[in-house]
Amino acid sequence: MTPPKTVAVVGFKNSGKTRAVEALVAELTKRGYRVGTLKHTAKNIALDTPGKDTARHRDAGAKATAILHHNAAAIFIDDHVKVGDAVKTLGDLDILVVEGFKTLDTHARLLVPREDEDIEKLRNGLEIAAVKIPGSRFSGDTDLPVVNLADAEALADIVEEKVYPMLPGVNCRGCGYDGCRSLGEAILGGEAEAKQCVRNRVEFTLRVNDEPVPLGGFVQRAFKGMLVGFLRSLKGGGNPRRVEIAFEVEDDE
Ligand code: SF4
Repeated sequence: MTPPKTVAVVGFKNSGKTRAVEALVAELTKRGYRVGTLKHTAKNIALDTPGKDTARHRDAGAKATAILHHNAAAIFIDDHVKVGDAVKTLGDLDILVVEGFKTLDTHARLLVPREDEDIEKLRNGLEIAAVKIPGSRFSGDTDLPVVNLADAEALADIVEEKVYPMLPGVNCRGCGYDGCRSLGEAILGGEAEAKQCVRNRVEFTLRVNDEPVPLGGFVQRAFKGMLVGFLRSLKGGGNPRRVEIAFEVEDDE
């Protein structure tokens, strides 16, 4: 599954990030997009209600706990979760809005500065606009497009125009660029397309023990050609569109 188009809303503490996320999500949803959000917190906050059934399951040692209602669900995972894996659990989305994760450079970002000096601190080459929050000390003095929080339509217009699918962040250089951020900069500059990321294309992926194995384009094409040829020779394998193969290797093999 190709990751959703993604934009991060980044800023320092109490800058107004959540207000910007709210405005953006509401406007994109109004436009018919299926929007998801992902939030980072550095605090060790309580994610569950002490004494409730799910909390009791977790207290008993469950590493993963789900609670399902007919139109809502929550999943608790008591372990480190990578951003890419968390995105997969959010399902099929058109646009993902990430709050925080300042160090990630796999997607475009909106800056929410408290003051002018914040702009340079928040830039990483993937910024598409700055959001001016009412009451902030940010003067608007920047070369970036500046959007007032109240103008959610302008904010959504920029996001619609600029954002691209979240890149994998593995910096394999398979796209011909130095890493994911470099490809992102080229996409935003109109010099490249997100489909140049060989990892997102799902043309051919190989995972061993659940970890992706980097493969160059030549090896991918060789594997794919061999397997497709073999599949077409099988009864029932004549018209392959998406192929998944998984097997376990015994110690003595
Ligand atoms: S091919 Fe994809 S994962 Fe590899 S560096 Fe380029 S953008 Fe990143």
